[in-house]
Amino acid sequence: MTDSLPCPRCGGPSDLASWLDRAQPKLAADSAIRASCPRCEQESHLALRSGEAAIGSLSPAPVMFRPERKVRIEALDVKTQFDHIAITLGKRSWRFASA
Ligand SMILES: [Zn+2]
Repeated sequence: MTDSLPCPRCGGPSDLASWLDRAQPKLAADSAIRASCPRCEQESHLALRSGEAAIGSLSPAPVMFRPERKVRIEALDVKTQFDHIAITLGKRSWRFASA
């Protein structure tokens, strides 16, 4: 499977698009994207950069994103703006508001 990220809890891989379709519209702390696993419903956090995606969790204070797995996704484009981030993956796009 391409473009897939494994769930830290159940280990099941899901397409990045499936994760993003289940993400909260507002960014969590440390600009992380909060999404529930398409397979087991466990909440995880994602951090995206152009060409790379990471899945992990947020640490207790100070709140920081801790990546557990990273994958290279060439088609992933991420643009960070003052009030949102815009994500494009192939023909799909998502937008997440900054806190
Ligand atoms: Zn899972």
